[in-house]
Amino acid sequence: MKLDEVYKSLTIPNNSKLALVVLDGLGDIATESSGWRTPLEAAKTPTLDTLAKRSAQGRMIPIAPGITPGSGPGHLGLFGYDPLEFEVGRGVIEALGLGIDLKAGDVAARANFCSLDPNGIVTDRRAGRIDTSVCEKQVEMLKKKIKKIGDVEIIIKAGKGHRFVVVFRGKGLTGPLTDTDPHREGLPIAKAKGPAKMAKVVAEFYKLALPVLKNCKPANGFLLRGIAHQPAIPSFEQRYALKAAAIAIYPMYKGLAQLVGMKKVEGLANVPAEFEAAVDALAAYDFVFVHVKGTDQAGEDGNFDAKVRAIEEADAALAQLLPHVDVLVITGDHSTPVPVKGHSWHPQPVMISGEIAGWDGLDRFTERAANQGSLGVFEAKHLIRLMQANAKRFDKFGA
Ligand code: ZN
Repeated sequence: MKLDEVYKSLTIPNNSKLALVVLDGLGDIATESSGWRTPLEAAKTPTLDTLAKRSAQGRMIPIAPGITPGSGPGHLGLFGYDPLEFEVGRGVIEALGLGIDLKAGDVAARANFCSLDPNGIVTDRRAGRIDTSVCEKQVEMLKKKIKKIGDVEIIIKAGKGHRFVVVFRGKGLTGPLTDTDPHREGLPIAKAKGPAKMAKVVAEFYKLALPVLKNCKPANGFLLRGIAHQPAIPSFEQRYALKAAAIAIYPMYKGLAQLVGMKKVEGLANVPAEFEAAVDALAAYDFVFVHVKGTDQAGEDGNFDAKVRAIEEADAALAQLLPHVDVLVITGDHSTPVPVKGHSWHPQPVMISGEIAGWDGLDRFTERAANQGSLGVFEAKHLIRLMQANAKRFDKFGA
């Protein structure tokens, strides 16, 4: 019997409320330059401190030892979908995040406007980071001219700044295809290589689209990346018998949550509003996923103080959620250590709080505390199962 089937056979529904709070890129490392402290250790975190006294802690391996994940696989792992088994193209995630209702078999690509010289050489891969308004205007021009290629419907939607998304909808389309982004300036737009029909459609799309943009400055070209079709993924509710809502500000995270069937909450502007929305969502849903971006951004910038502030802001906003949940998890989707200035493979700290989580004798939630926690080190894909167990949503296995 496969493990997922075992879990399914043991699942007992009840009225418990579960919350997964993801501080993106939370995990960090202590180095001499930061006085051997991590941002979690330096931050003032009264809410997390309170939680630590009724929680079990540990560390999670996002994908596999030594693998540095993007936020896509990082989140899929957290949601319990092995990222090595369920590969999701970035285009699919962006399309979902922009609110495009993807259908099975759709192929989606992330696109960004770029600048081309008269010989078709890419001189700026981001077209000087044009304004969203310029992007929207040019996307409208493309939409007007290109609606179909043969029997393939073309859906184009503007994103933020120089970014947009192209969805190809038609019979027999499959991905993945290689990027048309040459990934550095001084080269022409690359050919998308992959399944024949889809590669032909992409080539035709370029043939129609580039003349439309010919007189646009500086964004007279575009690059496609992460061209892939939507994979078949069992929904969160099918897998866990949990009706789930997703609270996030950035499209990509909303898209990831939607991909597994979570209901996304729109129109949130800041972290306090996110936690307020989480409280509201728990009235109608069993499970809420809350995504906080600031920690990851600060880590990417190598800004220790900003990461401390992001943690403190989340800590303050988190307090209102506590009375409304039975099982609460605080973690990251991966580490984004300040000294690394990027994502890393370091296991992220995790804390599970609940009536029967037990106390590890730890007074704070930090990387160092998590090292001593009873959860040890485990793969992120098991997290939701532990939450279900803590919510008493599993029957005994065997007599
Ligand atoms: Zn992330």
